[in-house]
Amino acid sequence: MSNTPVALVKCDSYEYEEVKRALDESLDLINALDFVKPGMKIGIKANLVTGSSANKAITTHPVLLRRLCELITERGASVVIGDSPGGLYTQAFVQNVYKSCGLHELESSSVTLNTDFSIKDGKFPEAESLKSFIYTGWLDDVDAIIGFSKLKTHAMMGMSCAVKNMFGCIPGTTKPDYHMRFPEEKAFANVMVDLNEFFKPVLYIVDAIDGMEGNGPTAGEKRHIGAILASKRPYSLDMVCAHMIGMGINDVQTLLVANERGLGPKDISEVSILGSYSLEDAKIPDFKRATIHQSITFEGGSAFNRIKSIAVKLAYSTKPLVKKDECIGCKKCHDTCPAKAITMIPSKGASPKGTGYIPQIDRSKCIKCFCCQEFCPVGAMKVHYNPIGSLLNKMQR
Ligand code: SF4
Ligand code: SF4
Repeated sequence: MSNTPVALVKCDSYEYEEVKRALDESLDLINALDFVKPGMKIGIKANLVTGSSANKAITTHPVLLRRLCELITERGASVVIGDSPGGLYTQAFVQNVYKSCGLHELESSSVTLNTDFSIKDGKFPEAESLKSFIYTGWLDDVDAIIGFSKLKTHAMMGMSCAVKNMFGCIPGTTKPDYHMRFPEEKAFANVMVDLNEFFKPVLYIVDAIDGMEGNGPTAGEKRHIGAILASKRPYSLDMVCAHMIGMGINDVQTLLVANERGLGPKDISEVSILGSYSLEDAKIPDFKRATIHQSITFEGGSAFNRIKSIAVKLAYSTKPLVKKDECIGCKKCHDTCPAKAITMIPSKGASPKGTGYIPQIDRSKCIKCFCCQEFCPVGAMKVHYNPIGSLLNKMQR
């Protein structure tokens, strides 16, 4: 499983002709669409985490989706595109997300945007974390699933890419419940891997033309990366993406647990990469992370190493912190917080565009899931580093 090849192809813009050349090449390299037969219905699980215009690099770009739909429908199959964004999983809410993400223009007689908002019970006894759960029912109505993610940083998991994208199979408003059920990073990473093993998408594609660095996955800065990647398994694919943005197995919890479960590679040397774009050329050495605290471990169980490990973890510890003057008091963080750790309080320093209220976080309740940061519509909730960690972070660059 570990050595499933990954196609890596250079693509520098979202111009249709450039996307067509690069996406077609990446899919041809791994015979990605051989499974598509006339009459099939293919579900594309895009990353539509929030309603956002394509140029913000938060969601899967519609030009890429358009070309993928063309390739599938040319083979006589039909397509349904869907996701469960953060927020209500209802027709009205999700239709607005489709609109903001520029997806309505993709609709045709054989391409639809999901309108089935049913919720199903899932049972997965072989799961590491997620033995029972609920999921978005539209995925039961397709013959095969393609995961089409975006390469971004993620405060809790380190990176949001192919594996993390499948969390969108959990209905939006119930996602915070899963953070409460699995507050520890490793257990939560196992949830992501369980979802991939349960749904078993037949193909994964990553939009890494423009990605997101810093305060990702929704409030960071757009960063040009210039690549499209594809593979039939997500773990090798994510290993390549992590390597491109300067991360390794200890920085991305989903890669770590996938390797421990015998599903994914240990490092980049175990991945076979196809395509004309060299991995060295694709690397972005100064890509800004959301957090680096997971990457520091000390081998061995001696008391000294344990103390060192605790000291370094403390130095690199992070927490959500509101930037008062950017906060518009919309209460979205309050409503999303699974630990009920947020109270809205009046504040004179809040943005004049807002309600005059800002969130106050009860640190004793906060489980550091960073849902508040992910779903803040204006990026006012930041990932805050311990000052020592910030200094060490700068010194490493
Ligand atoms: S931090 Fe963001 S989500 Fe929370 S109230 Fe302020 S603007 Fe809204
Ligand atoms: S305050 Fe933010 S990080 Fe803490 S539990 Fe609530 S949503 Fe998660």
